[in-house]
Amino acid sequence: MKQEYTALATPHISPTSVNDLACSKRFWTLRVLKQWPPRPPQTYSAFGTAVHAISARVFDPKNSPLPNLDHLEIWAREAFFKARYADRDARQRDMDRAKRMVVGYTQQIDCEEAEGTIATERPMHVPIFVDGRLLFVLSCVADRLLVHANDPDTLVVVDLKTGKPKIELDQSCVALAILKMTMPGYARFVLHYDWIDEGGRVDRDTVTTADVKGIWPRILSRAVEVLTAEEHLSEPNPGCVYCCLRPSCQPEVGVALDDATDLFEE
Ligand code: SF4
Repeated sequence: MKQEYTALATPHISPTSVNDLACSKRFWTLRVLKQWPPRPPQTYSAFGTAVHAISARVFDPKNSPLPNLDHLEIWAREAFFKARYADRDARQRDMDRAKRMVVGYTQQIDCEEAEGTIATERPMHVPIFVDGRLLFVLSCVADRLLVHANDPDTLVVVDLKTGKPKIELDQSCVALAILKMTMPGYARFVLHYDWIDEGGRVDRDTVTTADVKGIWPRILSRAVEVLTAEEHLSEPNPGCVYCCLRPSCQPEVGVALDDATDLFEE
């Protein structure tokens, strides 16, 4: 039976959740009903969150001149004490690692770019209406927004990454679409992915609006299709491998070794 999600929280489509649209059941269960299976604490994601929080303070225009490392120790403590750690030593190790990464990062960002920062950790939202009804909200948090002094018509968003480099253009497309709709005064929009490794070395990938051309209409029509469907059935896709619903959605079928031995004997 169709469930009216107007009684639920309005679903958000973000760079993080857009890939879930590949399967109607997955998006509906996780992003609308918010029925997440129990998960163990994600230490790595807590670490990434803390690195982002420290970097946001280091590049915050309020702390100019940028980058500002004067209070790194305090900002690191504030960020890491928010995360649950099994013991103080583990927290201290991660804190030291994060400080090394952030310091290394600042050394590779030129001063002109750092000083061009206009905001850090900026939440951005665009409610999308269909036939006068709020269907979903596009949302993201921009790690760093900047405008180069020599290119004032281009808005740049920097997405800091602590994981393995991998670009998903659907995610880039959602971020750029939100940017275009919320800050229409700029002529051009650019997305930098800054991949920081353990030693603070940075690799930068750039995605422009030309790179995501043609993708946006597909995302929008898929969002409408999923959110107005009568039923939300499973739709197997390559992302099933990482899906947290897989144990219940596609239970493993075990076979006894004796039954598997003579498979091709007549
Ligand atoms: S395992 Fe695959 S088919 Fe099942 S809910 Fe997840 S993404 Fe959908």
